[in-house]
Amino acid sequence: MDFLNNLFGKKSSKNTVGKICKVEFDENGKFVSVSVPQGQWTQNLSGQCKYYSQKASSLLQAAEVLKKINSIPQYTYYVVDTPDGSLGRDINGFYTEAAIKTKNLTVETRVAKSEIVESLSLLGSGNMMANQTAVAQLKKNGQYARLVLFMKCGQCGYEFPVETLAGDLVRECYCCGATNKSHRGSINIFLGSSMVEI
Ligand SMILES: [Zn+2]
Repeated sequence: MDFLNNLFGKKSSKNTVGKICKVEFDENGKFVSVSVPQGQWTQNLSGQCKYYSQKASSLLQAAEVLKKINSIPQYTYYVVDTPDGSLGRDINGFYTEAAIKTKNLTVETRVAKSEIVESLSLLGSGNMMANQTAVAQLKKNGQYARLVLFMKCGQCGYEFPVETLAGDLVRECYCCGATNKSHRGSINIFLGSSMVEI
């Protein structure tokens, strides 16, 4: 019965939310707009921290849902889980807590797989100083942490949040699926008397 409810009941309409993500490209294949349902947040409280989470069908949907949150107070964390990994956003900006997929992603409209482009830019967003310090602090404590930056797709121009490490990066665009190549230099963060490379 649960199975039937999942197929035909209320739950199935939630599961199809991802399929109504609409992406518009112009005649040259450049990104114009995307309309994404905002979904429903589930709230969890833990001490003074507030955690909001929801599921999405793709990293594109997750990124758009998170981009649209206007302002985030301290101790408040939004996470969107997708089959390709989870994206989070807090007062400082975007973050991840575990590795997200970088190829064969779920995208709405995929360009030819052989397409490899140079990304147009790789930039920070949010409070980068606080972001970098948080990543360094987590690394120092032996926890998973990656600096998340926004990559601008060389194919369609869409900007999407990617995990970065120093060196060469290859990431698939969340919007058109084009393989983007980029590079990031190493960043050294001083935490008291110790230095952490992120
Ligand atoms: Zn793209």
